[in-house]
Amino acid sequence: MKEEKNVCINCKTHLEKLLEKRKIDKEDLDLLKKPKRTLTFNIPLKRDNGKIEFFNGYRVQYNDALGPTKGGIRYHPEVDLEEVETLAFLMALKCSLVDLPYGGAKGGIEIDPKTLSKKELEKLSRNFIIAIHNSIGPEIDIPAPDVNTDGEIMAWMVDEYSKLKGKFTPAVITGKPIELGGSQGREISTSLGGAYILKKLGEKENLKPEETKIVIQGFGNVGNNIAKILHDWKYKIIAVSDSEGGIYNKEGLDINDILSKQKDKRALPEVKDAKKISNKELLELECDILIPAAISDQITKENANKIKSKIILEMANAPVSPEADEILAKKGIKVIPDILANSGGVIVSYFEWYQNMNNEKWSEEEVFKKLEKKITKAFDEVYSICKSRSCDIRNASYILAIERIVEAEKKKEEYKNV
Ligand code: NAD
Repeated sequence: MKEEKNVCINCKTHLEKLLEKRKIDKEDLDLLKKPKRTLTFNIPLKRDNGKIEFFNGYRVQYNDALGPTKGGIRYHPEVDLEEVETLAFLMALKCSLVDLPYGGAKGGIEIDPKTLSKKELEKLSRNFIIAIHNSIGPEIDIPAPDVNTDGEIMAWMVDEYSKLKGKFTPAVITGKPIELGGSQGREISTSLGGAYILKKLGEKENLKPEETKIVIQGFGNVGNNIAKILHDWKYKIIAVSDSEGGIYNKEGLDINDILSKQKDKRALPEVKDAKKISNKELLELECDILIPAAISDQITKENANKIKSKIILEMANAPVSPEADEILAKKGIKVIPDILANSGGVIVSYFEWYQNMNNEKWSEEEVFKKLEKKITKAFDEVYSICKSRSCDIRNASYILAIERIVEAEKKKEEYKNV
């Protein structure tokens, strides 16, 4: 998958740069060089035509120094072990950065789910759980949805796990439908988390919402939710786009009107009073905040010099390449990295698990309040590292995440007392 390759390459490059600049210790990073546990298995599937086939399945539990491992399960024909390992490592960093009591994991099946009937999809998902049920659990490893998996698949998986263990165990998986123990507020959690960070940054930078011009690339789940939230908070959204191109009005777009006309959840409707622009033009618009919320590798060394925004909030994964990062830094543009900006989703996943473990049900209001507290605390901690270690927000995020895991890892060994 091109997207994931970019995410993995960027992560490795950022770490190499941190080492080069001696911002992290090589010995510390070496402790995290390999995953704690890697599971590979063959998952059988009896197809609708009666034939039996096997598919490659993976689960990597990267590091559990901070708690049980946590991360999604993806279905994709290009899923491979190397990619799953790097994504599990990134999950470990993300959980650590926002101070969740979790390590990182990732899993997947090498399959194009579009080639399966619904019955086959359910059987394969249940067989995945049969293959790994002794290696996962609410206090061991907690999967969640990821690329091409959703709440319905998580419901089949919880059901299969519960049958195998002889009791309903909702806390084994997050991203479930609400009726089965899913959390309120999960749908917009990624976008809301990013919006809370902008609110906090706005306070630090003295940005008044009504005077803050925002450009958003991507109008899918993340893009349209963050557009709505920021519009409702009175920010001025001057341009949005989908894969076909964008619309622009320097006085601000009426996002609620656009959303009310949107038929396809990922595409923009026809809009009057707005000029059509290309995605290239959109990225280069004069604005205060640019939010890439579509795909990776959108701001590269080719266009970084033309970016006029003061702040970039990376809601998509790896939308800014490492070369572009350096150019943007020289121009004084602040980049809030993906690992922090889009961590709202995993934070609310943690809330879901917490509610299941404690037989609690929180209102949407409670979830949002706790999300704001958690994500702004992480932002404040990162910001103070930027000052104390004179580095940018991305580097500070990596430093905080790595140091927290390494410290726990070292303490655990210390207290073994052998
Ligand atoms: P989505 O598929 O719902 O929406 C993607 C949007 O991007 C669509 O509007 C699509 O038309 C647009 N798009 C695609 N290619 C484009 C291009 N070349 N130029 C401009 N726009 C383009 O996806 P999503 O769930 O909103 O996720 C968006 C990004 O956020 C991805 O990088 C994803 O990995 C990341 N992310 C999502 C979540 C989440 O909770 N959904 C969590 C963390 C990170």
